[in-house]
Amino acid sequence: MKALVYEGNQSLAVRDVEEPTVGESDALIQVHSVGICGSDLHAYHGHDERRPPPLVLGHEVSGHRIDHGKSTPVVVNPLVTCGHCFACQRGEENLCPDRQIISMPPRPGAFSELFSIPEKNVIELPTTFDLGQAALAEPIACGWHATRLVERMSGHSVVGQRIVVIGAGAVGLGAALSCRALGMEPLKVVENNSGRRQTAIEAGFDCLEASTLSTAIDHGVDAVIDAVGIRPTRELASQILRPGGTLIHIGLGDADSGIDIRRMTLQELRVSGSYTYTMKDFRETVTAMIDGQLGSLDWFEEAPLDAGLQCFERLAKGQVGVPKILLKPN
Ligand SMILES: [Zn+2]
Ligand SMILES: [Zn+2]
Repeated sequence: MKALVYEGNQSLAVRDVEEPTVGESDALIQVHSVGICGSDLHAYHGHDERRPPPLVLGHEVSGHRIDHGKSTPVVVNPLVTCGHCFACQRGEENLCPDRQIISMPPRPGAFSELFSIPEKNVIELPTTFDLGQAALAEPIACGWHATRLVERMSGHSVVGQRIVVIGAGAVGLGAALSCRALGMEPLKVVENNSGRRQTAIEAGFDCLEASTLSTAIDHGVDAVIDAVGIRPTRELASQILRPGGTLIHIGLGDADSGIDIRRMTLQELRVSGSYTYTMKDFRETVTAMIDGQLGSLDWFEEAPLDAGLQCFERLAKGQVGVPKILLKPN
């Protein structure tokens, strides 16, 4: 079968690879759409030691489960967990010590015609639901989980909270849409890429550049969701939170500095990382998407698998305005 293989620093090629092995509890998925994630881009630049080449990347995926000639539209939770450890038992599967995500060894990703995944990770979709939109479920679920963490860390529902979301890529936009679906319009969304800012504005959000944010906020905010995760965004978050405010950090931009630990201590800021989603988050996200609670979901462009390398190159040069590019291997 055809797959887009990451072969080393900034090198990707469509190759013929072996078809996946399908275990007894696995489903075989024929890929319809698979999103290019910031983490795929990170790997493409050779910056992710967890993703050594040669490797098939891609984990934001919708398609059809193929079973004895029957074809069912599905979306896939790409995070595979053990199901019996302490974290899994508590419904915090995302913290399973044995977690694996497709696109990271030993599990190949979904930039391919077919892949396999445990059946328990598969969510069936209504036949009327668009499979391009369905591939947005994974990044939106990251935003949904972060929004749920705002509630957990602060001890309050999002309703009534002044929330700033930093970043309007698919995860940040997903977080903003999740806040809205859970009853609270974000106060501001921050995005420096003009195309993405436009998408967020079209989705109805008050979206502006980082440099103009502090003048737009007169006193501290209750929560910040940082979907970028670099030093300047953490500095910004540290500055604008009110005493006792909540910072949820999802972005994997760079690894250290930016959080004012002294202010965090003196003002008792609540800081939590946010990694992927639980199966409950994923299901809630998919249900909200199907019910139309997450907006029009039209903020992606599509390309064939053969155009994968060009798409990565455009993303690397910052030439892509839409929050998501989906590749279509079949
Ligand atoms: Zn992703
Ligand atoms: Zn586990």
